Amino acid sequence: MNTLSVLVEGPVFVPGDAGYDTERSGFQLAGQHRPAVIVGATSASDVRTAIRFAAARDLPIAVQATGHGLTAPAQDALLITTHRMSGFRIDPAAGTAWIEAGVRWKAVVDAAAEHGLAPLSGSSPSVGAVSYTLGGGIGVLVRSYGLAADHVRTLEVVTADGEMRQVSAGSDLFWALLGGGNNFGVV
Ligand SMILES: Cc1cc2nc3c(=O)[nH]c(=O)nc-3n(C[C@H](O)[C@H](O)[C@H](O)COP(=O)(O)OP(=O)(O)OC[C@H]3O[C@@H](n4cnc5c(N)ncnc54)[C@H](O)[C@@H]3O)c2cc1C
Repeated sequence: MNTLSVLVEGPVFVPGDAGYDTERSGFQLAGQHRPAVIVGATSASDVRTAIRFAAARDLPIAVQATGHGLTAPAQDALLITTHRMSGFRIDPAAGTAWIEAGVRWKAVVDAAAEHGLAPLSGSSPSVGAVSYTLGGGIGVLVRSYGLAADHVRTLEVVTADGEMRQVSAGSDLFWALLGGGNNFGVV
């Protein structure tokens, strides 16, 4: 695991490290991840490196933004945490936003409000915007505007081969990701 710390910019944790328990824990405390290694990704490049590292060692891969949707804990896996990837930008004229993997809805709601805009977010401001959207995204404005997933233009995803792909409506992967959650890569 020492090699991994050199290859990524973000922190790497293994069981017993200070910070390991905090890093693996999220909102849902009923199920607890006990991964073999955690990569606290700071960029898409860290995500790519982590996925390639895991693939070369046959380690299962899991990803967590906030832990609101934890269902199957990642045991003996490589867990990629994305909460450090908290950047986003809003284009008020286009009415669009580009959102990184670790962004929680509250940040986007607050920034969009300054432009008189609102995202198609859900009931909890602390849920992750990306995974909420990958799961469909049934928000408070669903009756007027539909699912959040139906408004996505482009996704940037690192697939299991460690390649980064930008996909949009012409691509099968794009449609698979919208509703398929984490089954096809790390967005
Ligand atoms: C209090 C609460 C309120 C909610 N309200 C709503 C609501 O109003 N409407 C609604 O539609 N849903 C709602 N949900 C469900 C929520 O949208 C999903 O559980 C969502 O997946 C949580 O995303 P997260 O990033 O916060 O959680 P996480 O547990 O970090 O992630 C959830 C899932 O997404 C995967 N994932 C995380 N990041 C990525 C990534 N970058 N790429 C690929 N996969 C990724 C994870 O592996 C995991 O399987 C709510 C959940 C809670 C706990």
